[in-house]
Amino acid sequence: MTDRVFNFNAGPGTLPEVALAQAAKDIVNYQNKGLGIMEMSHRSKEFMAIADQTEALLRELMAIPDSYRVLFLQGGASSQFFMVPMNLLAGDAKATYLDTGTWSTKAIKEARQFGTIDVAYSGKAENYRRIPQPDAYQIDDDSSYLYLVSNNTIFGTQFAAFPNSSKMLIADMSSDILSRPIEVGSFGLIFAGAQKNLGPAGVTIVVIREDLLDRAPDSVPTMLRYKTHAEKGSMFNTPPCFAIYVVGEVLKWLKAQGGVPAMAERNEEKARLLYQLIDSSDYYRGHAEPDSRSRMNVAFNLPTADLESKFVAEATAQGMIGLKGHRSVGGCRASIYNAFPLDGVRRLVAFMEEFAGANPA
Ligand SMILES: *Cc1c(COP(=O)(O)O)cnc(C)c1O
Repeated sequence: MTDRVFNFNAGPGTLPEVALAQAAKDIVNYQNKGLGIMEMSHRSKEFMAIADQTEALLRELMAIPDSYRVLFLQGGASSQFFMVPMNLLAGDAKATYLDTGTWSTKAIKEARQFGTIDVAYSGKAENYRRIPQPDAYQIDDDSSYLYLVSNNTIFGTQFAAFPNSSKMLIADMSSDILSRPIEVGSFGLIFAGAQKNLGPAGVTIVVIREDLLDRAPDSVPTMLRYKTHAEKGSMFNTPPCFAIYVVGEVLKWLKAQGGVPAMAERNEEKARLLYQLIDSSDYYRGHAEPDSRSRMNVAFNLPTADLESKFVAEATAQGMIGLKGHRSVGGCRASIYNAFPLDGVRRLVAFMEEFAGANPA
């Protein structure tokens, strides 16, 4: 596959070629069964084995303790914005949210339908260029949980360390799951839509501490209760079989690369190359404060909007696509998820140097 471009899109993002090549075969004929992966019963021996293996790999790679359940759900990460408070905020309970960007703002809006939401910090006035230090906000004693977005895909900021709070942490890790080691045991619930760092759109991973399954009020519909899916091994209804299968192939690739610690090292190196260039240049300006920078999404500006358009167009012509920033930040954004190759980052850095030389401000 020599004709693939370097795909800097924020999501769906680039996937490992070996996983795609395997999927291409298995779509037509899975293990010589005479039918493809998308055509098999989700209750067949073959698919059950795929689902079990995918869960086992995720547990191994994330070191998920036995007291947590892993669920494969639908509805995208966005459905977790309401499922979390719907299941965990019984009665008129309170929860604390950190507003560090678009995805937390959306989660806050949904959560307000289910309880009292205290927004203990908001980065809105600074256009979300930083992650708050723990002394920048307070958490009320009667709050049920502290909700945060570990990596802000749009603004290119990321929690370098998680708050060391006595409150239960809930994290949206859609854009940095498996990109660095984390301690699952310090979270009550972690969720992630697959399409950034894990696989195709269509499946959302939820890792939930077992004791939380019983918190949901009776009024929660069956499909929207975590317990329903935990009790049925994510097969209460037809799960997103193909997406789960591809996540499994991506996890096999990830393990073969050396697992999460190896990924973290590689991600660190990729991000370092880009930030180093940004820091050494007057031409490019990073959006995030240096201590809040994301290793997954690097958001930056050029001297003018016209130069940014030209930059994106020329990069595209050279086989580097998806560099236009999100409309709410403008500028450019390079998303460099796990499967994005180091070579592609080197190519971009070289292009950025050339472009700055050839197009003075
Ligand atoms: C993309 C993204 C979402 C939304 O995911 P959907 O699966 O499209 O609902 C939520 N949170 C974060 C951090 C994201 O990057």
